Amino acid sequence: MKRYSAFAIAREAIRDHMGWERAWGNPEPRPKYDVIIVGAGGHGLATAYYLGKNFGITNVAVLEKGWLGGGNTGRNTTIIRSNYLQDASAAIYEKARSLYETLSQDLNYNVMFSPRGVMMLAQTEHEVRGYKRTAHANALQGVTTEYITPSRVKELCPIICLDGPRYPVLGALWQARGGTARHDAVAWGYARACSAMGMHIIQKCEVTGVETTDGAVTAVNTNRGTIGCSKLGMVVAGHSGQLADMAGFRLPIESVALQALVSEPIKPCMDVVVMANTVHGYMSQSDKGEMVIGGGADGFNNYTQRGSFHHIEETVRALVETFPMISRLKMLRQWGGIVDMTGDRSPILSKTPVDGVYINCGWGTGGFKSIPGSGWAMAELMANGSSPLADEFSLDRFREGRFIDESVAAGVAH
Ligand SMILES: Cc1cc2nc3c(=O)[nH]c(=O)nc-3n(C[C@H](O)[C@H](O)[C@H](O)COP(=O)(O)OP(=O)(O)OC[C@H]3O[C@@H](n4cnc5c(N)ncnc54)[C@H](O)[C@@H]3O)c2cc1C
Repeated sequence: MKRYSAFAIAREAIRDHMGWERAWGNPEPRPKYDVIIVGAGGHGLATAYYLGKNFGITNVAVLEKGWLGGGNTGRNTTIIRSNYLQDASAAIYEKARSLYETLSQDLNYNVMFSPRGVMMLAQTEHEVRGYKRTAHANALQGVTTEYITPSRVKELCPIICLDGPRYPVLGALWQARGGTARHDAVAWGYARACSAMGMHIIQKCEVTGVETTDGAVTAVNTNRGTIGCSKLGMVVAGHSGQLADMAGFRLPIESVALQALVSEPIKPCMDVVVMANTVHGYMSQSDKGEMVIGGGADGFNNYTQRGSFHHIEETVRALVETFPMISRLKMLRQWGGIVDMTGDRSPILSKTPVDGVYINCGWGTGGFKSIPGSGWAMAELMANGSSPLADEFSLDRFREGRFIDESVAAGVAH
């Protein structure tokens, strides 16, 4: 695979751009692979990438029922931060955030990581206490965050109204090296790098069954035939329950649609990401100028990847208190993605009751930020049977009552 570079752009400019290669291949499935990953979202592709990069395992296929990056990875609002409360969470999210810092260079693909800073507003005394506690925990964990005053909030984000009618801004938890990245580019960058290592990314290939012999995985059934494998990674977010069902085990997980919307593009007015958990909404401005707005999850379990009118009203009504200027914006489009929610709002990276089958799911409303760290840990788990970053997140924790409670850090999502 030819490298992307300034020189390559100049070369192609004088060749009428006829020399660019396809970013990834379109192969026919082989009869058998060492590893099959189901799901070509960010987590599945990152797992494949680090299997190749860190462990030299390249006889890998990533099977995707739709198009790569077409699940939650291509539908999220791209907030990246690592200011979680529990040690195990801070470790994996900070690993991911630090990998994002150099991901473009690593993948030779511009993922547009923008560490513009993320602030989580404290709008009740309860949140003030909670975020101060998280800032102290982060200091011990080596995650750089700080608790900032309302005047600093206003300095960083002038369009905020500090004296909202119900919830004045009392301060914020600020992570200066948090930010955003371009979601499609993350999926595309990993896909291109996997393809360059000789891995197969097979789109429009839906897994419909899992074959086992003596309790160990041997193959998957797909709409393109049966494909053998020695190890199987299930990385399908909201469809994890369905995949687990195919392999004969159950997961402590619920699937629900999470919605987001964007406004018409406007001139640059906000160069940080703001999350307002009490009023329940968050906002950032995209490079195109649109205000990217996220709200909550549907109140009932479902698999419908679309938006609904009452969410626009609920989310915008909540945010208008903190950002009065958005009351004059037209909203352009909205959408939904199927997120996978565990009871403790922490992910599952684990072996399963079926030998050779591993699962990575439960990232819920906030798994875009963790893609590089999750892929790194999942690859280690699949290659070595354990991983310091993943082991705390095993399925056993639900049996042992060893929950990693992040319902505050992940409460409003993202
Ligand atoms: C509206 C919204 C906003 C969000 N905002 C943020 C945010 O700001 N920050 C953040 O960190 N996170 C955010 N998230 C969460 C984040 O998007 C997800 O946690 C993350 O993208 C999950 O990635 P994934 O690779 O696990 O899943 P996905 O990207 O969903 O990929 C799973 C893939 O598996 C495929 N698949 C499913 N079943 C099968 C099958 N049987 N056979 C083959 N393939 C199959 C699907 O088609 C899909 O492409 C948001 C999510 C949504 C919906």
